[in-house]
Amino acid sequence: MSTSAPTEVKTTTCYMCACRCGIRVHLRDGEVRYIEGNPEHPINRGVICAKGSSGIMKQVSPARLTQPLKRKPGSERGAGEFEPISWSEAFDLLEQRLSKIRSTDPKKFALFTGRDQMQALTGLFARQFGTPNYAAHGGFCSVNMAAGMIYTIGGSFWEFGGPDLERARLFVMLGTAEDHHSNPLKIAISEFKRRGGRFVSINPVRTGYSAIADEWVPIRPGTDGALLLALTNELIAQGLYDREFVARYTNGGQLVVTDPASPRHGLLATDEDADPINPDYPQNQLWWDRHSNGPCLTHTPDTDPYLFGDFTLPDGTHVRPAFQLLAERVAEYTPEWAARITGIPAATIRRLAHEMGVTARDEKIELPIAWTDCWGREHASVIGNPVAFHAMRGLAAHSNGFHSIRALAILMSLLGTIDRPGGFRHKAPFPRGIPPAAKTPTGPEGVKPDTPLAGLALGWPASPEDLFVDDDGEPVRIDKGFSWEYPLSVHGLMHNVITNAWRGDPYPIDTLLIFMANMAWNSTMNTVEVRKMLNDRGADGEYRIPFVAVCDAFQSEMTAFADLVLPDTTYLERHDVMSMLDRPISEFDGPVDSVRVPVVPPLGECKPFQEVLIELGSRLKLPAFVDGNGERKYKDYPEFIVRHETEPGSGIGFLAGWRGEDGSKSMLGEPNPKQWERYAENNCVFHYRLPHSYQYMRNWNRGYMEWAQRMRIRRWGDPVIIQLYSEVLQRFRLAAEGRWPGRQPPERLRERVATYFDPLPFHYAPLETQATDLERYPLAAVTQRPMAMYHSWDSQNAWLRQIHGYNYLFVNPRTARAAGIADGGWIWVESQWGRVRCLCRYSEAVEPGTVWTWNAIGKQPGAWNLAPEADEARKGFLLNHLISDELPLEGARTSNSDPITGQAGWYDVRVRIYPAHETGISPQFETLPRAPGTRAAPRKWLAYVAGKRIER
Ligand code: SF4
Repeated sequence: MSTSAPTEVKTTTCYMCACRCGIRVHLRDGEVRYIEGNPEHPINRGVICAKGSSGIMKQVSPARLTQPLKRKPGSERGAGEFEPISWSEAFDLLEQRLSKIRSTDPKKFALFTGRDQMQALTGLFARQFGTPNYAAHGGFCSVNMAAGMIYTIGGSFWEFGGPDLERARLFVMLGTAEDHHSNPLKIAISEFKRRGGRFVSINPVRTGYSAIADEWVPIRPGTDGALLLALTNELIAQGLYDREFVARYTNGGQLVVTDPASPRHGLLATDEDADPINPDYPQNQLWWDRHSNGPCLTHTPDTDPYLFGDFTLPDGTHVRPAFQLLAERVAEYTPEWAARITGIPAATIRRLAHEMGVTARDEKIELPIAWTDCWGREHASVIGNPVAFHAMRGLAAHSNGFHSIRALAILMSLLGTIDRPGGFRHKAPFPRGIPPAAKTPTGPEGVKPDTPLAGLALGWPASPEDLFVDDDGEPVRIDKGFSWEYPLSVHGLMHNVITNAWRGDPYPIDTLLIFMANMAWNSTMNTVEVRKMLNDRGADGEYRIPFVAVCDAFQSEMTAFADLVLPDTTYLERHDVMSMLDRPISEFDGPVDSVRVPVVPPLGECKPFQEVLIELGSRLKLPAFVDGNGERKYKDYPEFIVRHETEPGSGIGFLAGWRGEDGSKSMLGEPNPKQWERYAENNCVFHYRLPHSYQYMRNWNRGYMEWAQRMRIRRWGDPVIIQLYSEVLQRFRLAAEGRWPGRQPPERLRERVATYFDPLPFHYAPLETQATDLERYPLAAVTQRPMAMYHSWDSQNAWLRQIHGYNYLFVNPRTARAAGIADGGWIWVESQWGRVRCLCRYSEAVEPGTVWTWNAIGKQPGAWNLAPEADEARKGFLLNHLISDELPLEGARTSNSDPITGQAGWYDVRVRIYPAHETGISPQFETLPRAPGTRAAPRKWLAYVAGKRIER
């Protein structure tokens, strides 16, 4: 290696976490030497974090897989014994297996992926294959956040929207991990605080963002809904909600049928003689007009709805405005009631509600931006109520999370902060209809041999008719998504796949292909049992899950269970797209998509998973990947990205920038063979800025809606009315009560659906809490990922391991002392499902009823090619051993998930702690051998000195 060789700088997009910052990679002699933030990138504006700059060590990680591997004949799954094979052998094996499945019963192939950023491609592959058994990580991550928000306001946090901290005066963050949405949010918070904004963090733990908040409000896990409902109660009681916003832009003024005997009980009253305008999202609903004191179609010119009252329509039907029903609902949720549940004093709840309401009301922002609403009313300016929120998995990952998040979305709406300056702002392609139009097939007939799936594998049910169930109401998907057990499981239930497949419930599968998910370790609940299931055989001596293929860049605990391992590349070695068809990096002012381009060639025989899918799609002759003669259509992934259109001639592809033959079009346009080059020349980013008049109030902005329809971002141009009251949920409840004219749930699920499908938000204790002896297990136990590591990815990173080599259980000193536990001592942490022995660390930064630790630092010995005696294996531990994937509820096995969305209840486990007399981590696992093709783990520090890489 020459120290005088010139440095070359290449631009791409980081993937050391999911934030997708722009980076500049400095290379010398073709080797990555330094990574810096790209100052011209809209996401990070030059900022880089510890993870991002440590990408250099990912390239030289000893855990890198470098060649396809096949499990050694006769060896057990989990033993990690492999022999190398060629790619051609690996593809032949998969082609043979998958073509047989496809031509017989495509649902016997299941494809589940982790925190990848290519779900538009993986989803397309699964649909073309014809299997319903596809999902990414969302079901075990934050599906409650997406579903709770999107079913209420038509958008959600992070990729889909976020806090406008440039103009907010008050910022309230709930349940967000140490640095979720890392660099962009850090930059925004730092500027917000410099401008004098006040930052309140509500979280059981005070680390990361919470540590720099002006006020930390400790809360007991799983009780956020109680707090949010009490805040809403207080806002309504004090008259501190934005009445005009609620009346015009939410369904608060819409009349709900309140005759218990009516078949339309709980549905919105409509004028059947009026034009519904759009049958999917009818606009013929009614207000009770304050001027004429009678019913009228909503948004009729010169009308204004009552928000409170009790009325009778001319046909004798009793109706009430939805807002009246909301006010009645939250009346019981007083601050005193919430104080007992959350641990937050009632006076604090009142003060926070007052601060939110007064800031929204008295510090209004007015921007001189004229816009026209969907009903033709012209507005000379855009008004903002500068209270912004951000929330994530801390609210979501509970089995009561959907209603908590509905409550948050409703609180934000009452404050009048949706898509307004200083509040919550959407990011394209949101807002979408409530719910979005995408749907799955509705029955088993949607799955046919040698045929693409008759719908999407994941969709947004609007009524029982949209469920994916058979004639008996039983699930079609292996994870039971979109069934009566989890009707709105819009991201699937990846955490149930292995258990269900092992049990053959609802049916056995043949091949499970996992991409980038550590399902035998930190990404699964009930880890010990799930590992046994992966290696379990039926009475015939065959594996219950006959074939497991895993694609990953690193040797993990999960790759050890594979029959076939496919070595993926790192993010620096491949093309990738952050697409408008998937999860783009849009900004508040318009759509933004971006790409990765390789800055170094793949190591060894590594192949990007995208190329694996293109190859398999071509070999299996899936229609999207072959031409009319069944011949391969795309040479490789880059060509696929450039040429693929959602439909022939649609002009819509994976990338929105530089479309058209000469690259002069955007959003829509013919394929451009030079598209990758244009992205590479432009910091790997395409940014489309909407006219100012389209940038706000997008749910109800005529100009924006017409543009979104022209761009085919929205199918309909109707306004997206905020659903304070959810008619969608009420449809399912009516079905459970036997009053819906269509599909009804199986008897055993009627009460469950009727209970949880409440059209108004309510608080209930998480299912696991309900099934726990709280006297014996009084403490809530939660995890979060550390700021310096992204899930289990970084345990192989020589630099980041120096920050976190093992983890403690953090316990409030009062709680620890009461249990006779010393700071730094070994303890047992026990739940009703098992116990782990680990190290305890006193921390004042956690509320006394909660204990917590970082996730995914503890490792199986030998995994990730770490030395068997590494701290990660001998001092690091995994809380997952204490969390069950199923609960014994009402005498039946029930997934430990939200009964509406199937969100995994990660943060619901209850534990007790006591001193351990022995030392060392428990449970312990066998040491994994080093996989062929990985290099021996260095026993020395890796460093660069004077331009040379040295080990010392
Ligand atoms: S925040 Fe995430 S994407 Fe951005 S530099 Fe850090 S690791 Fe990379």
